[in-house]
Amino acid sequence: MSELSFRELLMDAARRGVEYRDSLTTRRVNPSVAALTNLQALREPLAVQGCSAEAVIRLLDEVGSPATVATAGGRYFGFVNGSSLPVTVAANWLATAWDQNAAMAVMSPAAATFEEVALQWLVDLFGLPAHTAGTLVTGATLASFTGLAAARHELLRREGCNIEADGLFGAPPINVVVGDEVHASVGRALALLGLGRDRVLRVPTDQQGRMRADALPRLSEGPTLICIQAGNVNTGAFDPADAICDWAAERNAWVHVDGAFGLWAKTAPTHARLTQGYERADSWATDGHKWLNVPYDCGIALVRHSDALRSSMALTAAYLPPSGQRDPMQYGPDASQRARGVDVWAALKYLGREGIAALVTRCCAHAVRISRELGAAGCEVLNDVVLNQVLVVFGDDARTQRVIETLQRDGTCWCGVSQWQGRTVMRISVSSWASTDTDIDRSIAAILAAARAAN
Ligand SMILES: *Cc1c(COP(=O)(O)O)cnc(C)c1O
Repeated sequence: MSELSFRELLMDAARRGVEYRDSLTTRRVNPSVAALTNLQALREPLAVQGCSAEAVIRLLDEVGSPATVATAGGRYFGFVNGSSLPVTVAANWLATAWDQNAAMAVMSPAAATFEEVALQWLVDLFGLPAHTAGTLVTGATLASFTGLAAARHELLRREGCNIEADGLFGAPPINVVVGDEVHASVGRALALLGLGRDRVLRVPTDQQGRMRADALPRLSEGPTLICIQAGNVNTGAFDPADAICDWAAERNAWVHVDGAFGLWAKTAPTHARLTQGYERADSWATDGHKWLNVPYDCGIALVRHSDALRSSMALTAAYLPPSGQRDPMQYGPDASQRARGVDVWAALKYLGREGIAALVTRCCAHAVRISRELGAAGCEVLNDVVLNQVLVVFGDDARTQRVIETLQRDGTCWCGVSQWQGRTVMRISVSSWASTDTDIDRSIAAILAAARAAN
């Protein structure tokens, strides 16, 4: 068997990819037991001799495709996962063919330019200060890491420390304030930065998981950092940013926003009021691979103080002379990196302001409809559905768990389990561009059928 040409190989992969995406309207959302069993065939010893590229792609498709979870389709509501818009998949494929290293402008002027333009558009779209700097990372976890590294730099610079050179040893402690509902990723970022996941002051939250502004600590001394969230991972609720930023201004504190999906509410006139005051923060972490619906992996960190970001991320070596251009790697924790800016640019260029707003508004409208129809059918919705998240229970914890398992086995749609205020809940997150009214109808019917079956 002769090797396929590069052209034939890429066309073969493209054909398989297209067939996969076409299958999403009819296929089960989670893989069948048989498909999962077939994955075991991959656990073979590494062969001495390779095989044809065509055979590699065929095996990938025959064994891999059936075992995927259909997060790219319109009936996956697990965690908070977006899909990838067709234009972003196409852009990503083309950029992969380019094989650019986006670390430095001299390595890829194109990648550096796409990233710079995409970041400027995002700053503008979110209504942030014009000189806000940014970087594209792997996800909101690393975006929070990046924003908090800039915070650590700036807060301790003001105390006369050079934290990147000397480390935290001997530096004054930072007061780190978080809400009781802080996302685990912020805890990890604090841990990685030596600020401590548990060495924090926790602010109590209300019924929706919002930080209570009346319960902010009465700190008077020391460098202070507060982490707030735009979009609680369960309820979708927003911390009261204006009141928190007033509190922070009195203390010269740094405000970091975890807005992995919720920051996108700022882009939609229907929901922008939720994000009132968030533009007053110092750093923002959000995701591209959630609500912007670009391929994995893509997180976005934005920092008001460009110098703090640059100083915290600076990487110098004799063989990496400063270029006078914007080198992506000087703004984030990565050196070599894929051209994430291409996917983000493609999504923003394709959607425009109206398209982005419409995507956010549509997902939220689906969430409201799901909550209304499940509520009307006698299910109990626990949260105020302000955004794209719905928390439902079907009686006690055990019964809710059974409904979720039945639903997942059925495969029409996929919703996961979460814990909310001590209860087991079904969490429904509508974050995909691909969800149509028909998908929502089919999913509501499947959830209600699972609820009936679980009696
Ligand atoms: C998803 C999420 C994160 C983590 O984002 P990754 O992209 O998985 O790193 C952080 N915070 C919130 C609120 C999230 O929903």
